[in-house]
Amino acid sequence: MAHHHYQVGILGATGAVGQTFIRLLADHPWFTVTAVAASERSAGKPYREAANWLSGAPIPASVSSLQVQRAEPAALDCDFVFSALDSAVAGEIEQTFAEAGVPVVSNAKNYRMHDHVPLLIPEVNPEHLALIDQQEWGEGGFIVTNPNCSTTGLICGLHPLMQTFDLEAVQVTMLQALSGAGYPGVASLDAVGNVIPHIGGEEDKLATEPRKILGTLDGDEIAPADLSLSAQCTRVPVRNGHLACASVRFRDDVSGDAVADALRRFEAPAVTESLPSRPDPFVQVLDAPDAPQPQRHVKAGGGMTVSVGRVQNCPVNDVKFVLLSHNTVRGAAGGAILNAELLASEGYLEHVPTDAVEPAAT
Ligand code: NAP
Repeated sequence: MAHHHYQVGILGATGAVGQTFIRLLADHPWFTVTAVAASERSAGKPYREAANWLSGAPIPASVSSLQVQRAEPAALDCDFVFSALDSAVAGEIEQTFAEAGVPVVSNAKNYRMHDHVPLLIPEVNPEHLALIDQQEWGEGGFIVTNPNCSTTGLICGLHPLMQTFDLEAVQVTMLQALSGAGYPGVASLDAVGNVIPHIGGEEDKLATEPRKILGTLDGDEIAPADLSLSAQCTRVPVRNGHLACASVRFRDDVSGDAVADALRRFEAPAVTESLPSRPDPFVQVLDAPDAPQPQRHVKAGGGMTVSVGRVQNCPVNDVKFVLLSHNTVRGAAGGAILNAELLASEGYLEHVPTDAVEPAAT
């Protein structure tokens, strides 16, 4: 098992997700942020001036004075990069890094459905990492992605059910937080006291990404899961936390109690055991009749634990429940950091460091 110390770069470091990376990596035992990159608008400035820092906590001192670079491989002094780039530019820039031999751990949508790119949640489909061997960007370079923020939360609830039962169909209504639209995001006059029943591209992602993530590695490719999904996505005036109201149908006879039991009993695969960002529990099942709520439960497990409540028999499908996940932590930066930890632990970053050292303690 590799437990080296790595120098990391953040592409799109000034944005909402980029800032979350910097916040979550501040005291990371394996990864140190040594380079930050953003657009021409930010390049050349100290990070503290380029970023409109959104968190109440101060910018970590080690990053505050770093000079923002252009998103070019030669400009960044690091072993691998996290990407929180705007999807309008992520495709080309991430490819450039992979071709230059730099591993890219991305949040952006551009390569999620690429046949040879893992769409990864370590507790769900760690075996999909094998797809990396099919990638041919450049010696040592590869791309790994994490799912869309809504998809991530929903999958954390569905995967334990698929391990136990024969899941057939999912109907879900998403109530999605404003932070999912980045900063400044949705105009305040549209957001306050309102619900917007449209988030561009989101319903398509929820219809396609889960079938890949829950699919089976078959030789060199993923055989998609035989699962039918229908999603409706709304933007609600909540800061953080996507709430999913889901109703599920099984091919076998399954009750609400059995679903709650399967969620409680789920154990993440052993390969994730030593990963510093792995939450425990993976999913918490709440019995209170008014749980989960974004205000009260979104920070469970540092934002990495998904909360499920209102698990009941459903008179239309079989079982219904409400699920809450942190969209910029579990659904974005935290999920990508966990992906990089799995890559490090499984030796995929072994060739990378020129000056890797064993950390004092992990
Ligand atoms: P954001 O706040 O708009 O940030 C975008 C970042 O991309 C900024 O750092 C920006 O730099 C940089 N950028 C824009 N154009 C660039 C260029 N030409 N070259 C280099 N850098 C450029 O967006 P976000 O909400 O953080 O989202 C970032 C990515 O994560 C998106 O692909 C998004 O779809 C995905 N994502 C977001 C969430 C969420 O909950 N927000 C969840 C999952 C995935 P400047 O500051 O210099 O403009």
